[in-house]
Amino acid sequence: MDKQKITVTAPLLPNLDEFNTLLKDIWDSKWITNNGQFHQQLETELCKYLKVPYISLFTNGTLPLLTALQALRITGEVITTPYSFVATTHSLWWNGIKPVFVDIEESTCGIDPDKIEAAITPKTTAIMPVHCYGKPCNTKRIQEIADKYGLKVIYDAAHAFGVEVNGESVLNAGDISTLSFHATKVYNTVEGGAMVMHDAEMKKRVDFLKNFGFANETSVVAPGINGKMDEVRSAFGLLNLRKVDDAINARQKTAQIYRKELRDVSGVRFFDDMPGVRHNYSYFPIFINAAKFGMTRDELYFKMKEQNVLGRRYFYPLISEFSTYRGLPSANPQNLPVATRIANEVICLPMHHELSDNDLERVLNCIKR
Ligand SMILES: *Cc1c(COP(=O)(O)O)cnc(C)c1O
Repeated sequence: MDKQKITVTAPLLPNLDEFNTLLKDIWDSKWITNNGQFHQQLETELCKYLKVPYISLFTNGTLPLLTALQALRITGEVITTPYSFVATTHSLWWNGIKPVFVDIEESTCGIDPDKIEAAITPKTTAIMPVHCYGKPCNTKRIQEIADKYGLKVIYDAAHAFGVEVNGESVLNAGDISTLSFHATKVYNTVEGGAMVMHDAEMKKRVDFLKNFGFANETSVVAPGINGKMDEVRSAFGLLNLRKVDDAINARQKTAQIYRKELRDVSGVRFFDDMPGVRHNYSYFPIFINAAKFGMTRDELYFKMKEQNVLGRRYFYPLISEFSTYRGLPSANPQNLPVATRIANEVICLPMHHELSDNDLERVLNCIKR
């Protein structure tokens, strides 16, 4: 096989000379971590870009999930989705919280608001939905349920960088939203992440928590952790922020081509843009109906692989199928019929800012016959 690999994603990288200039500043200052100037500047610029009031940077996207649960003092049971990256549920488990899985809706792959109430018990304290593939959850319905039962809402918004609904950031929904800036995401700082919150009080608490709970030199006010982003990656992030709009535009063009070419292929379903939503085109999932398509999802997946076209089966298996969680009553596939079916239908096609026309043709040739 001589064809070059087409990967599912490719990292957005800053211009190397510009990065070197910022590195020189860091070397000169000798201030390499602990809320340095680039860290502060990145928080300010991200607030502006994302249209959110407060943000706290982290060293990856898992720590803000763990820390949000601590900051809001969540205990007992939390309602969440099985159709996500495994870190969503792990963050609950690491806090000694019992995850309660609720099925998803086919139209967004997000948690189905109609099925949340039936899963609430006296021990339920919060809901942790995911804006899967960056498609906004029904945040209004979820908030209504949360308000009715006095629950907190923490959004795992790892996929939702820059996503807006009617001009407002989807990151402003709920009590807290968390982001991942991992290399594979739309916007990256190599590894990195952030928490978005509504008020200065919470920002202060989270800033303490991500620095071992230190409020000042001698006082530790809470059992914190070390989640601080350093100056090198903050500088990397500042430069990538200047490129991310172009990257999103390139992804949008790819999405438009995929949609045009796959519209009439029998047995292939995909998402169209939602009205009023600014999407980030972080993923391009397709869903294979084996009977209509004439091939199963796995057959197509391995056929693509043979052609060096590397899709990913995100999200398969479901989180609820991993050994830690499969014994939970809510992990029973009968409780999760939509998620169980979709996990067996999905392939995320290659989607990033550097796909050429020739790459797209090769991807599409695997699917169209
Ligand atoms: C990537 C991701 C995370 C974890 O982020 P890291 O930065 O890799 O720790 C959490 N949740 C979801 C939905 C993700 O896609």
